[in-house]
Amino acid sequence: MSPQAPADASPRPAPREESAPRVVSILGATGSVGRSTIDVLRAHKGRFAVSAVAGGSDAAGLARAALETGARLAAIADPSAYRALREALAGTGVEAAAGPEAVIEAALRPADLVVAAIVGAAGVAPTHAALAAGRSVALANKESLVCAGAAVMRAAAASGARVLPMDSEHNALFQALGEADPARVEKLVITASGGPFRTWSAERIATATRAEALAHPNWAMGPKITIDSATMMNKGLELIEAHHLFGLGADRLDVLVHPQSVVHGLVMFTDGMSVAGLAHPDMRVPIAHCLGWPHRLATPARRLDLAELGALTFERPDIGRFPALGLAVEALREGGAAATVLNAANEVAVAAFLDGRIAFSDIARLVALAREAMARERLAEPATVAEALAINDAARQTSDAILAGSFRSGILS
Ligand code: NDP
Ligand code: MG
Repeated sequence: MSPQAPADASPRPAPREESAPRVVSILGATGSVGRSTIDVLRAHKGRFAVSAVAGGSDAAGLARAALETGARLAAIADPSAYRALREALAGTGVEAAAGPEAVIEAALRPADLVVAAIVGAAGVAPTHAALAAGRSVALANKESLVCAGAAVMRAAAASGARVLPMDSEHNALFQALGEADPARVEKLVITASGGPFRTWSAERIATATRAEALAHPNWAMGPKITIDSATMMNKGLELIEAHHLFGLGADRLDVLVHPQSVVHGLVMFTDGMSVAGLAHPDMRVPIAHCLGWPHRLATPARRLDLAELGALTFERPDIGRFPALGLAVEALREGGAAATVLNAANEVAVAAFLDGRIAFSDIARLVALAREAMARERLAEPATVAEALAINDAARQTSDAILAGSFRSGILS
């Protein structure tokens, strides 16, 4: 080894800490990621100021989030919740607004970082609006990339806005990649806990109840992503998310089941070295990373003690028992509008399962039927958000029609 370190290996000066508070807006402020974001901000008072908060229909929760964070604007998507929001904020000086346009207005308020934590395709337009306006986005709302990935990433590239991955696996990949040359990456691997049914037989999974599907072993999250984790559709959505974030094709993306959820993502380089991101499953870790980036913020997350853990285990996913993952991989390989359709059908199916209208195994079945019905149209990959949302609406209608027909014909049960 040469006694002299090469010039580019000398330690770099640490990026200068900012003195003015970083201005943040939180879309989905009343949800699981939104609340954890507020927790992290609260622990770093003085370093952040909140500009706007937005939510769906929980007026009391949104008013609380606005008052806790000192936001200037609270925007609620559901117009019928406006009155309750306005009353809850009367005399506080916080501006109340309602309707999907108000949520977009919240995304556009001046901010250094917009946290995109709305659930589902409802997050597409606000996430896109923020990026198109040059606001950096900390992205938890994976559905916006599954529904409209090309359009969303193009908007970021055009404005120069940064997309910071907040989803734990993608955040681990982002950290493990550092400034590495993407051409030297052979494969990106994301892990899955396997969800509550990891060890169950296909027959038992088919009749799993709502309560069983909502009992995630490692993560406390909103209901939609918890069901997605139980079907493993979540991991499929995350492969598509990784494709858009990191620009790799399906053959260079992989999933490993890892029940302890300690290793979140693994970058395998062309020289045989792999770099992984490890942490106990706690969303405050990736949230703090995005909020502070490129600096690190301290969190009270449990520290890793690998000796105490003793063993970390890994297995291959079983697409036979978790067909939703297979459907997502198929959609990623197929391209075109397949992912947009998959996402829309899955949202309809998960809502129907949560409402007790279909069985657990019907979720993947409905997605497959909707994909089949829409495949005849051979739709191209949506180039704009408007196109993506039109396909999203059409796929939702197709899914609803299949669902309505199924209850008469019994296709799904
Ligand atoms: P939650 O269900 O807990 O929260 C969803 C949030 O979205 C709420 O604030 C809800 O408001 C808001 N919302 C719903 N519909 C609309 C709408 N039409 N317009 C504006 N806001 C709306 O979900 P999570 O926090 O669990 O997940 C949020 C996103 O982050 C999802 O895309 C999920 O996949 C992703 N994610 C979540 C993780 C987690 O640990 N929870 C981890 C990684 C990614 P209201 O309360 O009023 O309904
Ligand atoms: Mg994840």
